[in-house]
Amino acid sequence: MSIFICPVCGGKLEISGKSYICQNRHTFDMAKSGYVNLLPTNNSGSVHGDNKFMLRARREFLEKGFYKPLCDGVCKMVSKYCGENAVILDAGCGEGYYTTAVKASFDKSNIAVEMYGIDISKDAVDMASKRKSGVNFAAASVFHIPVLSESCDILLTMFAPYCCEEYGRVLKNGGIMIMAIPSENHLWELKSKIYDTPYKNEVKDYQLEGFEFSGVEKISYTMNIPENSDILSLFSMTPYYYKTGKIEKERLNELKNLETQADFELLIYKKLAKD
Ligand SMILES: [Zn+2]
Repeated sequence: MSIFICPVCGGKLEISGKSYICQNRHTFDMAKSGYVNLLPTNNSGSVHGDNKFMLRARREFLEKGFYKPLCDGVCKMVSKYCGENAVILDAGCGEGYYTTAVKASFDKSNIAVEMYGIDISKDAVDMASKRKSGVNFAAASVFHIPVLSESCDILLTMFAPYCCEEYGRVLKNGGIMIMAIPSENHLWELKSKIYDTPYKNEVKDYQLEGFEFSGVEKISYTMNIPENSDILSLFSMTPYYYKTGKIEKERLNELKNLETQADFELLIYKKLAKD
């Protein structure tokens, strides 16, 4: 069983050996690591998404446990909203840190779930697949998700781009979307150290079309980051990475250690049934 669909004809994909095949015989071979590339052929997946350097920096940072309280919070929340045989999709899963942790938390309790992860970066899903976690990974865009309509009980979106139409389409009626966003004070001390006039994160209106807002859980704690390399990794995971000038980069390079706030919100949405 798979919820993946053919990116050529939209037909359901079945697993046959190490390939996914639709009824029209369109065939998609799994990579050696296990993921399948379901990007349209005109999209190589290398143009978009995070590059290998950033992915490695991210994995290293996450594996040191700096975001573990967030990860634990996500695992707990997913298990609260689904049980045996649930279908869970991590949209924009990156190198699979949260995807794998959620799957492992169900494995630990002997609860069978079907877990999927998609990301537009082939390098990311390749790294994610190498974790050998039993998650089904595919290279795919969150704006054209190659999965059956109304097939998912839970959709996770961890700092990924938001696509209202697709997220609404793939969730079952009454299905739950869990969205992680940085909150107001996230990395405030880091920003204060490198910018002359730092800004707090803007907290947006929670309402989303097609969904009922069902609650928010705040996860805030202090991170003690003892090494400059980890500070740089953290910075490369933020949107500021792309828009920081030379002076700020120099200040960043000079930071020997850092105590800064991690401040997240996990937003919970229920998909509204269509009339
Ligand atoms: Zn097909």
